[in-house]
Amino acid sequence: MSQYEKPPELYDGLRLHQNENTGGCSPRVREALASLRADEIGFYPPYAAATDAVARYLGVAADRVTLVNGLDEGIMALAVACLRASIGGPQLEAIVPEPAFEIFRCDTAVAGGKLVQVMPHREFSFPLDEVLAAITPNTRVVFVTNPNNPTGVGVPADAIKTIARRLPAGAVVFVDEAYAEFAGESFIPELGAFPNVIVGRTFSKAFGLAGLRIGCLVSAPATVDPIRRAIPVYSVNIAAVVAIQAALSDLDHLHDYLRQVAESKTLLYAACERLGVTYWTSRANFVLVCAGDRTDALVKGAFRRGIYLRDRSSEPGCAGCLRIATGIVEHTARALAVIEEVLCDAR
Ligand code: PMP
Repeated sequence: MSQYEKPPELYDGLRLHQNENTGGCSPRVREALASLRADEIGFYPPYAAATDAVARYLGVAADRVTLVNGLDEGIMALAVACLRASIGGPQLEAIVPEPAFEIFRCDTAVAGGKLVQVMPHREFSFPLDEVLAAITPNTRVVFVTNPNNPTGVGVPADAIKTIARRLPAGAVVFVDEAYAEFAGESFIPELGAFPNVIVGRTFSKAFGLAGLRIGCLVSAPATVDPIRRAIPVYSVNIAAVVAIQAALSDLDHLHDYLRQVAESKTLLYAACERLGVTYWTSRANFVLVCAGDRTDALVKGAFRRGIYLRDRSSEPGCAGCLRIATGIVEHTARALAVIEEVLCDAR
């Protein structure tokens, strides 16, 4: 399966199927967008101030930060730069520990790379030995997501370091930290000692900027240089440039959302226990739940009531599973009432 199955465009109900911040962005972002001048919109955008703001937030020098039009763009550029074969050369390989963000598979196919999937442990602990065993002289990238999507399970920093030390020259570990704010940990402080690791971040989730498309790659400048060449010169637009600076000036908004995510997860775990549904403790803003043979009825029943959940049962190791975003407490409470109603009806 190398084509991304984009979720349907549903905006008239409660969107708990794409891990977005359903409370939206900081009001400061809307003010910044409203005060954009006509001439600013008329010019190609400047990136220095936004890059500095992101670098300050992440605690790194600005030359380590590459802004991208959503982390999706960064992943595609990385796949193209790392996996495109030279004429007459071998097919280059991407290792993907499953279950994983589907885009890794799709972008590997687009870049002409060979996908090497590592199947999950039953409880989704990180399959380090299996990843190490999958490394070959043709490996060019290992995709690791911490915390992982769709499981919400964390990856130990030591596992990332071990993989980085074992990779052939020219290969990188891509650590996708789309959900790092929720886990409160990052590999970024380790990057100085690991020049073959690239961290990806997005402002779509914790900062509620998914509609504006802004993320970044963080790594040693020499490592990211070939990837920068695969990113269109002005791919981040002026709206995202002003929005990210406004969002980073309002960390109270972020911290309020993080508090709500923690409370929402507690509510969801309690409901799962009441309803006899299995779940994995999550370090992200969503929870993977296993309702077994009730999953299809649950997703469809919630859909009919205007609550959108993501069926993940066809992902490796995820039979009978669905994923639920756990953000704004009021939204979680609404979803749980519906989930309870549907599951009780299905009995
Ligand atoms: N990586 C992971 C693991 C994700 O879940 C997502 C969003 N679904 C992305 C990257 C893409 O983020 P963005 O919105 O910045 O393109």
